[in-house]
Amino acid sequence: MKTSHTANVVLRQARAISPNRGALGLSDLAISSDGTIASLTPYRAGNQWAHASKVLDLNGLTVVPGLIDAHFHMLATGTQLLTIDLATAKSVPEVMELLEAGKDKSGSEWLIAGHLDDEHPGARLPTLKELDHAFPRRPVFLEHRSCHFALCNTRAMKLLRLQTTARVKGLLDGQLVGIARQRLMEAQGEEFVERALRAASLAAARRGATTVHAMEGGDLFGDFALNVLKRIRDSLATDVVVYWCGTDVQRAVENGFDRVGGDSFVDGTLGSSTAALRYPYSDDRASSGSLQLTEQQVSAFFSAAAVSHLQSGLHVIGGRAIEVALRGIAQALPKAEAGTRWRLEHCGDVSKQQLRRAAQLGVCISTQPAFTYLRGGPRGVYAQRLGPRRTRRLYPLRWMLDEGIHVGGGSDSPITPADCLLGLESCVNARYSAQRTSALEALQIFTSEAAWCAGEEARKGDLVRGMQADLLVLKENPLTCAPDKIQQIPVLLVVRKGRPVCGPLMEGEGAWR
Ligand SMILES: [Zn+2]
Repeated sequence: MKTSHTANVVLRQARAISPNRGALGLSDLAISSDGTIASLTPYRAGNQWAHASKVLDLNGLTVVPGLIDAHFHMLATGTQLLTIDLATAKSVPEVMELLEAGKDKSGSEWLIAGHLDDEHPGARLPTLKELDHAFPRRPVFLEHRSCHFALCNTRAMKLLRLQTTARVKGLLDGQLVGIARQRLMEAQGEEFVERALRAASLAAARRGATTVHAMEGGDLFGDFALNVLKRIRDSLATDVVVYWCGTDVQRAVENGFDRVGGDSFVDGTLGSSTAALRYPYSDDRASSGSLQLTEQQVSAFFSAAAVSHLQSGLHVIGGRAIEVALRGIAQALPKAEAGTRWRLEHCGDVSKQQLRRAAQLGVCISTQPAFTYLRGGPRGVYAQRLGPRRTRRLYPLRWMLDEGIHVGGGSDSPITPADCLLGLESCVNARYSAQRTSALEALQIFTSEAAWCAGEEARKGDLVRGMQADLLVLKENPLTCAPDKIQQIPVLLVVRKGRPVCGPLMEGEGAWR
């Protein structure tokens, strides 16, 4: 057989699933030495693949394309993996206990922690006074679970060269938090940043990702870590598509970024009541959130990106922020090349009418199904903020798909876990049945459609000859397993660019390593 001559490795008897063609039945998947798929043919018992350097018999295990996390914060995820996790702390004393218990974890004098959560009933943030009292000499930096602001003690403010004004009081938000994060990473050094980026990439790979769309740098994190990322990018566990998180298009061009805006904030988040809604918050009728960029700024940004031929996108959660972005894109449209793929990140409180316009404008949406899966429902924080009626139509996946919009799925890790299988489950088993997708649609959202959102659909996101050989061997078939069990499917092997990355199938005698 012709294709066997080019095959380097063959995965035999794979139950292959294509997101666009469905279940393909028992197949042999041959991988060329250049890391692309050489062939995918029906399994025939007689075909021994004698020319292959390695034949791995999968005995009917499921193979799907490598998953793509379309919204991932590498540096923030990695930093959290290496430092203290406050996710379980529901009160200030519990925060202090975890800080005390983990104070020697990183080996640095800095006490860095993430997932600080004041969104539980009755919870609040620690005060500057409390942090200073507990840790008078060691610098403390606490990232809020939303990653939209952070807390510092006086010692940290001093080392980060930030003035403790009456207004700031250790609470960093807006531009200040981006500056602080950059200086914090500089203080930890390149070695720490490299470890963090590697840890984040590997964590995503272990849960099925072969590509992440990394929201990095710019106003959110500063560019210090991007130089490290550039250097180690080819040796990471996943492919990394960098979305530079700044709105200064000129600077993006000068620095050689081809994707701009990324997760730059047009508004805030629902949990912290800062997303710019169309109507007031249910638990605070005086507020409907606020915009962090004006309509003129948003429109100028999209226009400048279009003129410079960069892919552009922004973070929008509330309907008012989405409106501003859609108008900005409409104004920029005449300056853009045909087929420009504008991206909107999140799109939580979006209306059907807005989705229709987004589809007409060629907007693709990068959204996070696990947000509502983990925090939605009648007793979740969203219901508290928005009331029962609006909660049911938050992050409306079904509506997005029905409008024909290209939707890429992501985790926004560390906001939700770096776990693409959790993402799949969140689509299929969504809190409100009206917004559920089929398992095949969910697979598309985390493979071919996510690839489309980054313009990589020609070489990623499906099992097709000539595409990059990014694939997973799974213990169960996600199309047929119970919707609430998808996250628990063991990932047996992760292959990227035709090379094994991680998974238990790499262990033992004769294994492919
Ligand atoms: Zn965001």
